[in-house]
Amino acid sequence: MERPYLQRRYLLSFDSRDIGHIFTDVLVIGAGAAGLRAALAAAENAQVLVLTKGDLEQSNTCYAQGGIAAVMDEADSIEAHVADTISCAAGLGDEEVIRRVVGEATQTIAEMIEWGLPADREGDRVALGREGAHSANRIVHAHGDATGKYLLEMLIDRAKAHENIKIFENCFVVDLITDEADGAVVGAITFHARYGLQMIWAKQTILAAGGAGMLWRETSNPSCSTADAVAIAFRSGAELAEMEMMQFHPTTLYVAGATRALISEAVRGEGAHLIDREGNRFMGKYHEDGELAPRDVVSRAIVAQTEKTGSTHVFLDVRHIGAERVKRRFPQICRLCADFDIDIGNDLIPVRPAAHYMIGGVKADADGRTSLGGLWACGEAACTGLHGANRLASNSLLETLVAGKACGRLAADAAGEANTRLTARRIISSNPHSDRTALDLSDIRNSLRSIMWRNAGIVRTGPRLAETKEIIGFWGSYVMDKEFFDPAGWEVQNMLTASLLVVECAFRRAETRGVHYRKDFPETDPAWARRQILRRTEQQLVVM
Ligand SMILES: Cc1cc2nc3c(=O)[nH]c(=O)nc-3n(C[C@H](O)[C@H](O)[C@H](O)COP(=O)(O)OP(=O)(O)OC[C@H]3O[C@@H](n4cnc5c(N)ncnc54)[C@H](O)[C@@H]3O)c2cc1C
Repeated sequence: MERPYLQRRYLLSFDSRDIGHIFTDVLVIGAGAAGLRAALAAAENAQVLVLTKGDLEQSNTCYAQGGIAAVMDEADSIEAHVADTISCAAGLGDEEVIRRVVGEATQTIAEMIEWGLPADREGDRVALGREGAHSANRIVHAHGDATGKYLLEMLIDRAKAHENIKIFENCFVVDLITDEADGAVVGAITFHARYGLQMIWAKQTILAAGGAGMLWRETSNPSCSTADAVAIAFRSGAELAEMEMMQFHPTTLYVAGATRALISEAVRGEGAHLIDREGNRFMGKYHEDGELAPRDVVSRAIVAQTEKTGSTHVFLDVRHIGAERVKRRFPQICRLCADFDIDIGNDLIPVRPAAHYMIGGVKADADGRTSLGGLWACGEAACTGLHGANRLASNSLLETLVAGKACGRLAADAAGEANTRLTARRIISSNPHSDRTALDLSDIRNSLRSIMWRNAGIVRTGPRLAETKEIIGFWGSYVMDKEFFDPAGWEVQNMLTASLLVVECAFRRAETRGVHYRKDFPETDPAWARRQILRRTEQQLVVM
């Protein structure tokens, strides 16, 4: 891996003596479902500080539509949910983690409903939807397709009301700080527009800073998903896993000028058809489950069909379902389409795939333990093995809640141990000064996202990945040697770092598995039925 990406332990030069200090028992980085659930669990026994780089509504959680997977029906079973998850994970799933998360789903939903999640109901029972690759109806949703928003609002209200939780919005974590003696994480260096740089010292730190969709030009993720979590963890020396595994969602709205808003899988679960520009329903030719095939299959089928028909997109057809039913079940999607004059009762919805869920991340066990002392990771920032090489729809919100609760509790326990002292250490970071020219950051950001979409997207090849490594390496030589003094610059540096890791791992994995499709190696190779784990040293990238 190119040296500019390895050399810097911290993005900034600083002397901790010159910066203001804050102390907390447990520091939680990220205020999506994972961070807030972790904070609420930790706050039972500790003082907790939650940081978010934007305002509280800026997270992937806020956009989640489909729902939360859980076995809630006698006709369904934990074994069936486990089997569906293992089958989707394409040989890389960790069965112990899968059994643990799936096994806790029902009680997790019960707890969320007790806390105030307004889950949709059918008569006296919780209504259950269906999504691709699930063998039963098991998707719990709130206000139709607004599940994430209502879950988040409920967690925010609860966290704000908790006397042991403080929340700092608009507080950007630049780097984790580590103890020079044993490498354990002892907090973070942060930047706040009003208060500037701050050293936040914590007995235990939970990284829940979300995903990486913004690395690709087309994405369903909001603009905050710039892969900060993996880049920050990488610089601190933590192990990462499965960085090549990005799940692409088959159906995001494709209208020039619109953000690539998701058209949930649940729409296909309700019976929507995918048709090409010639009006042909095509999924049956690609998979026996048709529109409900796994996401990677549907995404690749759409790419193949658009190439065949010379089009940029395909269409979702919900006309036969009935406008009333679709409006009731998917009010947000209907509103979104209406904003672009698409009347779902009469018109087709133009869609194409986009980067959606980062399966890879900071290597963690089911409780969120990472390879570094004092550091826990949960939610989309973490890679526990639940999803393996492919994520089963609606298992991710479930994981944020199960893993968030577990690591919050354990982090608070660890913070309470008698030998865990909270002290400020002197840390000096001194990066060489670069005199090179000023940069157009948005140009680099856009160029990076374009090349990642073209060469490290749904269909990948060795030569294209090798070329991309070289180009990102070159950009790094004049971006990574600089110091920026605002989040826009740090985000670009994080995006470049994370992209290079994605490309490196995608290049090394010379096979096709789950979401990782190599046109030059289209078969799954049993020799590759293993995780790719990596970490940084100053000299080299260590891949295990
Ligand atoms: C459109 C869409 C629809 C989805 N639908 C579903 C669904 O139906 N079911 C399902 O299970 N999953 C769904 N997902 C995935 C799911 O929403 C996410 O995986 C999950 O919400 C991630 O939660 P999180 O708490 O880990 O991260 P997020 O919710 O993304 O929260 C990350 C937090 O970290 C903060 N942060 C990031 N970087 C920094 C930094 N440098 N400093 C400080 N703070 C930082 C952010 O501000 C944010 O508060 C969907 C995702 C999208 C985008």
